Amino acid sequence: MGHQVLARKWRPQGFEGIVGQEQTVQSLRGALEHNRLHSAYLFTGTRGVGKTTLARIFARCLNCTASGRPSPDPCGECPACRGFAAGNFPDLIEIDAASRTGVDDTRELLENALYPPSMGRYKVYLIDEVHMFSSSSFNAMLKTLEEPPPHAVFLLATTDVQKVPPTVLSRCLQLTLRPVPEKLISAHLADVLGREGIAFEPGAIEEIARCARGSIRDGMTLTDQAINFTNGNLGADPVRAMLGSLDRGVVAGLAAALTARDAERALALSEQIGASGDYLLALEDLMGLLHQAALMQLTGAGIDPAGAHRQAVVELSQRVAPEMLQLLYQIALLGRRDLELASDLRQGFEMLLLRMLAFTPHSEQALASPAPDSGVSDPAPSTPGAEPEPPPPGSEPPPAAEPAAEPVPEPAPRAAEPVSEPRRAAESDPQTAPGTPLQAGRSTVQAPDAATPASSPAAADRQQRIAELRQTPVVRTLAEHFGLGDEHIRLSDDEGLGLD
Ligand SMILES: [Zn+2]
Repeated sequence: MGHQVLARKWRPQGFEGIVGQEQTVQSLRGALEHNRLHSAYLFTGTRGVGKTTLARIFARCLNCTASGRPSPDPCGECPACRGFAAGNFPDLIEIDAASRTGVDDTRELLENALYPPSMGRYKVYLIDEVHMFSSSSFNAMLKTLEEPPPHAVFLLATTDVQKVPPTVLSRCLQLTLRPVPEKLISAHLADVLGREGIAFEPGAIEEIARCARGSIRDGMTLTDQAINFTNGNLGADPVRAMLGSLDRGVVAGLAAALTARDAERALALSEQIGASGDYLLALEDLMGLLHQAALMQLTGAGIDPAGAHRQAVVELSQRVAPEMLQLLYQIALLGRRDLELASDLRQGFEMLLLRMLAFTPHSEQALASPAPDSGVSDPAPSTPGAEPEPPPPGSEPPPAAEPAAEPVPEPAPRAAEPVSEPRRAAESDPQTAPGTPLQAGRSTVQAPDAATPASSPAAADRQQRIAELRQTPVVRTLAEHFGLGDEHIRLSDDEGLGLD
């Protein structure tokens, strides 16, 4: 039973027990040592990085009576310290703004800040997820913050600082907590398990630390689960099974398939990932692999600590062009952000893989096939009456979904009509627009494509497809990332999108 609550049992009582967050700890210690105290602090950071833990320690430091003044090293013996350890110090008022329902209660609590503490030196308000406060609660708090009584300290914590009103922000000293690096998490878990006398394989806690994604609390919770799952003997294999972690070989295979442009194989591996693991983890593994390969190309040495990917890294770094690695990484990075928006993860993940297969940096494309350059720059008009296709996950709906609803910018001359600017002309068959200058600085000259004149359905389809692809945020972001203008984006022979 004791191992059920590792996170609580091993919650640090002083700054020395905090994992990571050196900067924040340093500035809080400094403030205590030099007695430069503010009346409000805002701890920001993702979940489980230690915001409330740090705030509680700070509250304890403010109130420890051992030295007659606030101390960065609370004694652990005085009534205040004992009250904190037992969780019943009367002048620490904790409010969870996310779960608080009685708004009036909150207001009353906050208005009580004017009265002096009953036992401690400071009356400390620890308000978690403060961005969830109602406006009346914020107002009650602001009243106190505007003219703070000397004995009141507000410790606010939030995962979403954007939602905290500027009037509150401007009165707070802001402390930003970072995700905890994997190495520190696994070292901490090893320490805790050692003290608990629980056997573990290093690989097991490395897997847990990876899944914790920067959160000490998640790491501890997963460790609790692993202890239960493995009956207190944390072997790497059972822990991996529990975490639904992937055999890294699958991800290495995926990277190979993507860079070899083998769609069938990539989708087969995606299915395997869906059956045995976690798409998000797979994506992060893939990104790790690409990162290592890119590093190896530049420095001659990857730094994968576990070395599990080593062979795949070497292989990728030798076989794949640096731009391709960058491109895949960028798509994965953006895709990870958007994956949660997909209606289901599998669909989102597959679309992501297809997107990776759809793009080719120009350097590679030139080698593969001399694609005719369509030179498109403006979104092609959608054919009137055509059903707009559903956008890929994460993209915005196409602006001209209803043909009649909004005027499309630059309304839509078809190829036969006169064209008003060079880029529009280049979009159509050059034979129908003689004398139109091709893109400046282009090295490849466009070959007239006799099989698909611009007026044919195939050409219209093609332009439609370009327009759809170009509307996706990922294309815009990629173009921005590589510093490319619209004119550098075009469709290749195999329906992939090319970047020059
Ligand atoms: Zn004390």
